[in-house]
Amino acid sequence: MHRASEDHRSVAFPHLVLPLLRDTARLLGAEPDRVALFMASGTGGWEVALTNTLPPGAQVLLPCAGHFANLWGDSARRLGFAVETVPEMEWGDAPSPERIASILAADTHHRFAAILVVHNETSTGVTADLPAIRAAIDKAGHPALLMIDGVSSIGSLEYRHDDWRVDVAITGSQKGLMLPAGLAIVAFSERALAAANTVTGPRAYFDLRPMLAQNADGYFPYTPSIPMLYGLRESVGMLLDEGLDQVAQRHARLARGVRAAVAAWRLPICCRNAASTSNTVTTIMTPAGIDARKIVSHAFTKYDLSLGGGLGPLAGKAFRIGHMGWLNEGMLFGALGLTAMALTDCGVPASAADACAAAAAVWHGDAS
Ligand code: PLP
Repeated sequence: MHRASEDHRSVAFPHLVLPLLRDTARLLGAEPDRVALFMASGTGGWEVALTNTLPPGAQVLLPCAGHFANLWGDSARRLGFAVETVPEMEWGDAPSPERIASILAADTHHRFAAILVVHNETSTGVTADLPAIRAAIDKAGHPALLMIDGVSSIGSLEYRHDDWRVDVAITGSQKGLMLPAGLAIVAFSERALAAANTVTGPRAYFDLRPMLAQNADGYFPYTPSIPMLYGLRESVGMLLDEGLDQVAQRHARLARGVRAAVAAWRLPICCRNAASTSNTVTTIMTPAGIDARKIVSHAFTKYDLSLGGGLGPLAGKAFRIGHMGWLNEGMLFGALGLTAMALTDCGVPASAADACAAAAAVWHGDAS
């Protein structure tokens, strides 16, 4: 990423952009001419998804049991869309395909134009079953677009845009793609692209039409961030070289070790169903009377360890261990050992030795 800037209108520039778009699309399992890169964070990706495919004021269905689902819903409301949440979801729940199927089946007038699903809820450490949700929409025979937020899944967890028939997927550069924040990557289906050409709501910076028109020739409608494009070139290359199946397996294996370590501390995780535990982030509940914020700030100041804080209603009640991106067992041993020390300092006795031994038993047992 550290290089002299270059002319993004030069004849050479498409030699960077065209293969980059092709390989980024491969990473998502989408066709290259249906992937776009916007200079924004993931939040900008939400806006790209919504404004380019939905008619003004459209109604959307949101399974909402976490901070980022809340924020996506909030963005949609502020853009003038009507958001209906799936009832009776608790933080720690995954979206229920059965409940989605029954809500959509009851929507005989097809009021819902889209269903917004956070693939991996970074606040709770819960992963949604996207193929089952796609099947639920099909079972209900409902035409709603399936939009997914893959900010903390894409590049780490299995994601197959075209095979799973997702209509719009968004991600940001700063998680599985291992870069600074600054790129929103958005993939579309044929149907979503067709919608982008007909919807009438206002769009300017995030208008997909000039973006795709210029991308087709290897250019951008406005000045792209050259360092971010070179960074993406490197990170997509790393992931494709490792192999997407291997990347997903690595995260699954590492996450099993983290969960084994947390179990050794006898601390509960936020995710309420073992089948939905996230392989990129583990949200750990702290005992009553212990403020999780103190653990996070103590870990940072005393041990230079960045834990995630509890978000929304989990503030003070939970902390998070992120395990996405370029990561191996050695790095996690360090994080788990230091977490145990910070916990103990803050009045939650936790053994570094037990945690590392529990993780090692998992990693030794099934390392491949
Ligand atoms: N969606 C999810 C699942 C996230 O984890 C985040 C950020 O952590 C966002 C959306 C928001 O992305 P950004 O902070 O890049 O705007």
